[in-house]
Amino acid sequence: MAGDAGAGGRIVPRMASPFESEQTASKRGTIGAVTVFRGHILSPLSNGGWIELRDGTLEVEDGVIVSVGSAEKHDVDLRPNLIIPGFVDTHAHVPQLAICGVHPDGLLSWLRKWVYPLEAEFQGGRARELTKWFFREMLANGTTSAALLTSAWPESVDICFELAREYGVHAWIGPPLMDIGAYRRARVLEEAEELARRWDSKRQRFAVTPRFALSCSEELLQGAGDLARALDLPVQTHLNENPDEIREVRHRFRRSYIEVYEDAGLVRPNSLFAHCVWMGKRDWKKVRRVSHCPGSNLFLKSGIMDWPAATNSGALISLGSDVGAGPDLSIYRVMRQAWSIHATQKGQGPGPEELLRMATLGGAEALGFQDIGSLEPGRSADFQVLDWNRIVPPGAPPAESAHDLVSRIVHRGDRSAIRHVYVSGKLMPPPPETERRTRPVP
Ligand SMILES: [Zn+2]
Repeated sequence: MAGDAGAGGRIVPRMASPFESEQTASKRGTIGAVTVFRGHILSPLSNGGWIELRDGTLEVEDGVIVSVGSAEKHDVDLRPNLIIPGFVDTHAHVPQLAICGVHPDGLLSWLRKWVYPLEAEFQGGRARELTKWFFREMLANGTTSAALLTSAWPESVDICFELAREYGVHAWIGPPLMDIGAYRRARVLEEAEELARRWDSKRQRFAVTPRFALSCSEELLQGAGDLARALDLPVQTHLNENPDEIREVRHRFRRSYIEVYEDAGLVRPNSLFAHCVWMGKRDWKKVRRVSHCPGSNLFLKSGIMDWPAATNSGALISLGSDVGAGPDLSIYRVMRQAWSIHATQKGQGPGPEELLRMATLGGAEALGFQDIGSLEPGRSADFQVLDWNRIVPPGAPPAESAHDLVSRIVHRGDRSAIRHVYVSGKLMPPPPETERRTRPVP
C-alpha cells in the first residue's frame, strides 16, 4: 500500500505505484552495477505524501536511489524489517558527547563549568578519537546527516570534515566562533575563512557558527556576517534559549537578541537558529529555519518552545539532539520529547507523521540538502533498517494502517531496534559497543 498525507498529516490510502526516475530506464542495461534492497519500505515524500510498500525494493546505483517499487529480484533481503530514511539531526556539538547527562542546571553555569573546559582540550589525538566515536554513535542511532559544532580549535574542524567525508554523511560543520569568555580567540575569523575555503563542498558545508551572542564581540559578529555573505555560507547559531542569557544579551547590546544578529548580517535565508524558546511575534517573522531541541530545553530548564507559534510562522522546523545538553544522539528520543511536551501545550502538538517527517525530510530541507531525507529516486540511499518485531509487537492486529505504523516507529523506536544503517547504499560499521564486545580493546 502507498499513502499520501493530506494537509492534516494523516496518511490516506493510495494505489501502490512503483515510481522511478527518468534516468532509471537507461540504467537498467547496467543491472550489475545496481544493488536492490528488499524490505518493508516507509518514507515521507517531498510532495507532502508518504509511501509504504510492504514488500518493496529500493534500487541503488552509485549510492543513489534510482527506483522504488516492487521488483521480483533482490540483492539484499531485509524482509520483514522496515526500511525508513536516516535521520537528520540539525543541532549537535561534537565535543560534548562526553558530558551528556551532567549538571542539569542553567545554561550559563553549565557552559562555564563543563563545556568550555572540555572543548579547550578537544584537539589532537583526543579530538580524532572522540570525533570518530561521535560519528559511530550518531550512525548507531540511525542519524545519517547532521549540523555539527566542533571545538574552536581548527584541527577539530579538519578532523570532523575528514570523518564526515569518510562516512559519506551530509553535514554542516563549523567551529563555535567566540572572543569573549573564550578558551581561545586568536585569528578566529581568519581561520574560519581558511577552513571554509578548504572544506566547504556540496555535501559537507562549512557553516559560519557564532557560538551565541554573549560569546562574541560586535566586531566578531559583524565579521561572521561578512564571511557568510562573501562566501555564501550557511549560518548556524543559538537564539533565545534561556531567560538569563536573553536578559544579559539585552543588557549588553541594548536591543533584542534577533536584532543583534540582524545588525551583523547573520539573519540570512539559510540561517539556522537552535532553540527559539523565548520568541515574540516579531522574532518568529524573522527566522526561516529552526532546530527544535526539546530535550535540551528541558534538561537545562530553559523552557518550552511555543509549538503553535513556531508552526504558524512558516519557518522550517527540524529536530536537534543538542548533545551534550541532550542526553544522547537519539532522534527517536527527541521525537518523543517533542510529542510529550507539546501534547499538553495549548493548541495542537505534532502528530506522529509530522514528527517523523521533521526528523527526516524536514531536517534535510532545513539544511538545504535536496538529495537526502526520503526514499525517492535521485536521493542518496541513506536509510535505517528497523527490526519489525521491535516496532510491531507479536499479536498486533493485521489490518494496521500506515498511520499506526508511523506512530509505532515514533513511540517505540530506539537504537536497539536498528539492525543496520546505510549511507549512500553502503553498510555502516556496527555500533561501537558491539565492536567492543566482540573485539577486546588492548
Ligand atoms: Zn547548542
